[in-house]
Amino acid sequence: MNVKAPSGERVVKRVVVAGGGTAGWVTATALARHLGPLLDITLIESEEIGTIGVGESTTPTFRGFHNLMKIKEEHFMSAAQATVKLGIEFRNWARVGDRYIHPFGTYGRRWSWMADFHHFWLHAHAQGFGGELGEYCLETRAGEANRMSLGPPLAPSYAYHIDAARYARFLRELAEPAGVKRIEGKIRNVELDPESGFIEALVLESGIRVEADLFVDCTGFRSLLLGDALGVEFEDWGHWIRTNSAVAVQSTSDGPEQPYTSAIAHEAGWRWRIPLQHRDGNGFVFASDFMSADEAHARLLAEISGEPLFEPWLIRFKTGTRAKAWHKNCVALGLAGGFIEPLESTSIHLMMAGVTRLIEDFPFQGFNPSLLAYFNGKSRQEFENIRDFIILHYHVTERDDSGFWDHCRTMDPPDSVRERLALWEENARAYQLPHELFRVDSWAAVLLGQRRQPRGYHRLAEMMPEQQLRNELARMKREIDDLVNDMPSHPDFLSRYCPAAIPA
Ligand code: FAD
Repeated sequence: MNVKAPSGERVVKRVVVAGGGTAGWVTATALARHLGPLLDITLIESEEIGTIGVGESTTPTFRGFHNLMKIKEEHFMSAAQATVKLGIEFRNWARVGDRYIHPFGTYGRRWSWMADFHHFWLHAHAQGFGGELGEYCLETRAGEANRMSLGPPLAPSYAYHIDAARYARFLRELAEPAGVKRIEGKIRNVELDPESGFIEALVLESGIRVEADLFVDCTGFRSLLLGDALGVEFEDWGHWIRTNSAVAVQSTSDGPEQPYTSAIAHEAGWRWRIPLQHRDGNGFVFASDFMSADEAHARLLAEISGEPLFEPWLIRFKTGTRAKAWHKNCVALGLAGGFIEPLESTSIHLMMAGVTRLIEDFPFQGFNPSLLAYFNGKSRQEFENIRDFIILHYHVTERDDSGFWDHCRTMDPPDSVRERLALWEENARAYQLPHELFRVDSWAAVLLGQRRQPRGYHRLAEMMPEQQLRNELARMKREIDDLVNDMPSHPDFLSRYCPAAIPA
């Protein structure tokens, strides 16, 4: 296989994207939009195999990715019957009956003081004033009031709830006119070059043989190329994150669409509710060591509020990552490269981050080992940071009402989580690593929302005179309340800005 070239000569031109789920179409569309004239892009998918059919809650990075692709927001939102997501509502996580929101925005305002807002709030709290942390966050307040606006004067930070199937169709309609060739068929065999071990071609059941220079494995949990054919191992993080199954169902909407995802903990995991314009997405995530699929199925149907639209389906998954995301001439994106259970809806974010990096560092000149090492290092870092944040939700709990929660509470977390907890407990120190998805305020939201009260906080907060702190906090609350009161309701916002496209 010709992968080396004299300097300047382009050797990687033919790209095959294997798989047509969200990962496949996100990858093909992004490659076509950004590098289209330089590449020949083919996508292979099998309708018979289908897609996983979940993956409907997103993170704000999704918007940045769409902006880069010059996708018009209202078109996309109408096509995907999308609603706004301002954060995630967590219920029953530290104790049954608890509730908090992890918002996408920030708390308070950045003062010139060199400490994050939560230190000042903790100080106020210690003096017996200040109210709830969420009162200082526009996204939390707007979410609770079910309101949304793009401003002016100020738009909240937000993401979306999307219909995954409609979103994939929407992308396909962008990608094919931009030059992506789609082949329908099942991949039967992955042919390797006997000398280099590089992938040479994919052979379909129909006998069609599709050659390429670069292969992007988007075949979902099967990981047909990177995992099966190239033998890149899966690193299993299931000892830290025990949930490994979900029963999912779509249902009729019950009431106005709320602008946040709900994550409601139960004895062996949690249940999601994702409100779309035309229906709700629901799922019961559980650890199979602690709950049977039959029980999860029955509980899901008993607990959702609308009428189920289909028979619920069972999905088994593993939390973990492939040892390398990129090996030889194959990059895995989406579930083929790894998965962290869906509590913070990070999978689409990870694939978008991956394809952005692939475009930034596209291997036109061949597969330089330093490039692969750089790419793989970044991928691993992103996965591990998210893994740690998810572990935090399970580990920082007082629940002792089931074997599952006993395990979560008493588990030995990774050193990276242990260190974060130690810093937090001492003086409420939280941090965001370079390229980390979750911000200081995300860590603070979950830790405080799950009752992990630090022993101290930054002493600098004590330097603000008490009356000034009282005034500032009161002013912030008032400003946020005024902003929220001026926003239209979320359903009104949707019907004016991006009414659902007529159901296909
Ligand atoms: P898939 O959707 O499985 O697509 C695989 C593609 O490969 C299909 O087109 C299939 O036909 C094709 N294929 C496979 N084998 C062959 C073959 N032999 N020949 C030809 N084609 C083949 N992510 C989020 O960001 N937010 C969420 O809220 C969220 N919730 C989730 C909940 C659960 C329970 C799970 C398990 C995942 C969730 N995810 C979520 C992850 C999300 O579903 C995926 O990241 C997303 O759907 C992308 O999947 P994919 O394209 O990698 O795989």
